[in-house]
Amino acid sequence: MLVLIDHDRGQVEEVSLQVVAFGRAVGGRLDGDSVEAVVIGDQGASIAERVGTHVAVVHLVQHDALTDYAPEAWGDALAQLVVQRDARAVVGVGTDRGNEVLAHAAAVLGVPFITNVTTYERDHDDDASAFLTRQRWGGSLLEDAALAPGLAALSAAPHAFAPLEIPRPNEEVAAQSLMQLFTPNLGPEAGRTRVVERRAVGGGVTLQTAPVVVSGGRGVGSVEGFVALEQLAELLGGAVGCSRVVTNQGWRPHSDQVGQTGKRVAPILYIACGISGAIQHWIGMQSAQRVLAINIDKDAPMVTKADYAVIGDLHVVVPAIVAELQRRRA
Ligand code: FAD
Repeated sequence: MLVLIDHDRGQVEEVSLQVVAFGRAVGGRLDGDSVEAVVIGDQGASIAERVGTHVAVVHLVQHDALTDYAPEAWGDALAQLVVQRDARAVVGVGTDRGNEVLAHAAAVLGVPFITNVTTYERDHDDDASAFLTRQRWGGSLLEDAALAPGLAALSAAPHAFAPLEIPRPNEEVAAQSLMQLFTPNLGPEAGRTRVVERRAVGGGVTLQTAPVVVSGGRGVGSVEGFVALEQLAELLGGAVGCSRVVTNQGWRPHSDQVGQTGKRVAPILYIACGISGAIQHWIGMQSAQRVLAINIDKDAPMVTKADYAVIGDLHVVVPAIVAELQRRRA
């Protein structure tokens, strides 16, 4: 069982470690020893130690074409490792990058690719087959499917599987000794799609990792209306998100959009200000642990589904929360 650890230049997010639990589910009766992690790229060594506490072996895949993210080269390299290890399955997490790399690997191997799996159960009568549920259409549809025997690539829907700590048989063995270097055979064409430049658009916490997301919808009304939301996000150590209406209006960049055609977030608290709660928005924040809705409409879907709601004008409520937080901190 090979599990691809998604990382961005050595930074591993919690969601990437959920894939180890998924690998165990797919592996059925396999023990921790049979789950092997794959970390691609030069910066892989810095994260291998952390991952090494979850799996038996970490394959460090290194090559000149893998110095930064390059989807085809990553997919090709992963496919070569699958062949070399004679893996039963290769799994990853259903992030943009995880799905992209697995899609390339599956195409190279000529095997099926099953994306965004939420549950996985082995067929008790036939150990090689399985029944699974997976998200489709951005999570608005759940599909039950049967998986025939044979090598397959699978990705887990983000947040569908809790991260798992896998005990190693011999805790004395240093993580370092469990790392194995793999150098794939990649031609010049493998790196034709690759990251050549990065431009920072902002600092601080990101929308997808923030513990609190303060999100605004049409009710915010303007670019200036987001100032109070930004103040609240800063006070709570969070990030600002928004609905599609807001990006369509040009009040916020698309990178802030939450939903089916935006980002998926899973904060501890999601504060929805002036957002009606359309299904396409809900899909993006349904994994939030708690939802607070601030809305003038007590019947808005966001209000009826939220854990907490304040019925009122956000232009009054949000500054009031900001003022109270500032008062308490002073
Ligand atoms: P509205 O639905 O207009 O809701 C505004 C809310 O603000 C209302 O509930 C209102 O009561 C409240 N309000 C108004 N004034 C105030 C005030 N002063 N104080 C407090 N509350 C107030 N949407 C997304 O968000 N993300 C997506 O990724 C996405 N993808 C889509 C993909 C497809 C294929 C399609 C068809 C649609 C998609 N949408 C997406 C759009 C989605 O269907 C909704 O139209 C959108 O989410 C609505 O945004 P909203 O809640 O900001 O606006």
